[in-house]
Amino acid sequence: MRVKDRDFEVFISKEEIEKIVKGLAQRIGKDYEDRNPLFVVMLNGSFVFAADFLRSLDFVADVAFVRYSSYVGMNTVGVASCDIVIPEHVKGRNVIVVEDIVDSGVTMAQFMKDIKSLNPESVALMTLLFKPDSLRENVKVDYVGKAIENRFVVGYGLDYDGLGRNLDAIYVVKE
Ligand code: 5GP
Ligand code: MG
Repeated sequence: MRVKDRDFEVFISKEEIEKIVKGLAQRIGKDYEDRNPLFVVMLNGSFVFAADFLRSLDFVADVAFVRYSSYVGMNTVGVASCDIVIPEHVKGRNVIVVEDIVDSGVTMAQFMKDIKSLNPESVALMTLLFKPDSLRENVKVDYVGKAIENRFVVGYGLDYDGLGRNLDAIYVVKE
């Protein structure tokens, strides 16, 4: 699969993703069904995962969206900035953050600090993918779909320079 200027190959198939997502929905369902959770979806990358995950839940869910960017222009700024704000009604709620991938943890470290300042009852972090070897911030990941090695992946919401978010499997750069 060609995306922009690189060749990618399937890394996690559509079928495996479906199993992972259903598994997470079952775990969250068991842990949260009676706690009126508020799902906070981290855009943009999580939109596909969130859509499948939320529809796999068998209870009525409350959903909000936020967006952080760790880049300003072309330069990485160590700290992520928030450009769709966290809704005020997280106060007193059991929040589950829905993230596509935790890599260095910079984004989530900042976000967790910001969301906790709004006094939710609890905050849990759920991520579809986790790169444990890449983590350099003190971030606790409560629900992991799949831990992967430190390689660049694309598809199922994740992009390569804006491209490939619509791919229905997760691809990895061909060595
Ligand atoms: P972190 O702040 O944990 O380093 O990175 C978080 C964000 O970087 C993710 O939400 C995602 O947008 C992006 N990211 C990290 N690893 C990958 C990857 O392998 N592929 C893609 N497409 N994005 C990634
Ligand atoms: Mg993301």
